[in-house]
Amino acid sequence: MIILIIEDEKKLSDILKTVLKSERYSVDVAYTGKDGLDKAMKNKYSLILLDIMLPLKDGFTVCKELREHQIHTPIIMLTARGSVDDRVTGLDTGADDYLVKPFGMNELFARIRAVLRRRKTTDSDIVKIANLVMDKKKHEVTRAGKVVALTPKEYKLLDTLLTHPGEAINRRTLIDNAWGPDFVEANNELNVHIKYLRSKIDGDMGKAKHKPLIHTIRGVGFVLKE
Ligand code: CA
Repeated sequence: MIILIIEDEKKLSDILKTVLKSERYSVDVAYTGKDGLDKAMKNKYSLILLDIMLPLKDGFTVCKELREHQIHTPIIMLTARGSVDDRVTGLDTGADDYLVKPFGMNELFARIRAVLRRRKTTDSDIVKIANLVMDKKKHEVTRAGKVVALTPKEYKLLDTLLTHPGEAINRRTLIDNAWGPDFVEANNELNVHIKYLRSKIDGDMGKAKHKPLIHTIRGVGFVLKE
């Protein structure tokens, strides 16, 4: 468990580091919003403690940018300002919880445990868009609660599309992930497999119809979106 502390008040970040270490968490520290954002994009943390008033980039922006980059590390915002506005802004930008300074260490630990517990089941093991759910632990895909049986290739293609819902994924990325980087298409394999996948997910072969999720971006690739 590695926790990233993004806090410019040296005294507070030192205390946090010490107490978190005493609870056997590993700790990394950043003193500016910019450095914190860089670290959080590069490394995989279990949780981020994020101050709001920070040099170079404030906590709201850091949080927003992380979520925009599909980094869903749990975030607890720390701030001296306890106004309802801050709280709402924090949660709106994608923070998981909010702690007003000064706070007791027991409260901090309780919040950390609660956020981690809450995140355990929603972490990247389960990916969702509309009523399509991929459970990576079970290696199972469901649409509207019904299990969809996919071949390994179809599963990989869907997994790749699900990494960035709403964003066009180019053909080469899909081929790389499903067949490998050396694969050269001979018989339009990608389109063929996407067609099968689409029929299973969206049901366009006379089966029960769902709202289509897999869309073709002509000349580019495919996108998964509502
Ligand atoms: Ca600060």
